Amino acid sequence: MKIEVLGSTQDGGVPHLECGCDVCEAARENPEEAKRNASILLKDSEEEDSFRYLVDATPDVRYQVKADYLDGVFISHGHLGHITGLLQFGEEGANKTDLPLYVSDKTEDYIRKNDPFRLLVDKGNVEIMSFNDEDEVDIQGGRIEAFEARHNRVNTDTLSFMIHGEEKKLFYIADIHEWTEKTLNLMQQADIAIVDGTFWSEEEIERYEEVPHPVMKETMHLAEGWDTDIYFTHINHTNPALRKDTDERQEIQERGFGVAEQGMEFEL
Ligand SMILES: [Zn+2]
Ligand SMILES: [Zn+2]
Ligand SMILES: [Zn+2]
Repeated sequence: MKIEVLGSTQDGGVPHLECGCDVCEAARENPEEAKRNASILLKDSEEEDSFRYLVDATPDVRYQVKADYLDGVFISHGHLGHITGLLQFGEEGANKTDLPLYVSDKTEDYIRKNDPFRLLVDKGNVEIMSFNDEDEVDIQGGRIEAFEARHNRVNTDTLSFMIHGEEKKLFYIADIHEWTEKTLNLMQQADIAIVDGTFWSEEEIERYEEVPHPVMKETMHLAEGWDTDIYFTHINHTNPALRKDTDERQEIQERGFGVAEQGMEFEL
């Protein structure tokens, strides 16, 4: 199995709707500088008959996948950057039939109760597959396990994913409020981990207390010297590590960590 990184920015993306910083202005002027929201694709190969599963449906989903080749979609939680792309699979968009949608019971409830998500179920665009904490499902090419993670200010619960290929396992945890012992253990057990790197430091934005994430500096401190290959994703437009030419990016590399970039692939 291969894992392809389809994007690695926080929900607000780059350019960010509210921002006039150099990074966001450059992305407005030149589409090549724009960066897509965090999500990954599980696949076998580039061949047409390859299986493909999407993890998180972002507002950028139209640029990230084609609906006709997807075998299923996994959703981590009910925030802008993770679930709203699902609407593109409905009748105004791809108009899929019975696309397997792996979600927790709380996320299912949220979809069934809220328009316009409700229409996806009512029109048969998706087929809900119950997928909760500590559940595991066989998929073509391997298997995927769900583990609850800690993320506040959300009406659904939040899942992280351990993805098992033939030889390796990859832990995906793009968006959390804080590390727990459980999620740190999962990260340490994996060969590769793609983890929340929203902010470099707590001073980076004024409303950090409202929208906390484990900052990159803390995660590197906690995981220094581990055998797991760790890559950061879900990077905010304000995070200096988003740019390749910064001291912060250099520090990440020197300390043995990486930054997930669109197009990166990992073989499991
Ligand atoms: Zn997010
Ligand atoms: Zn910005
Ligand atoms: Zn979130």
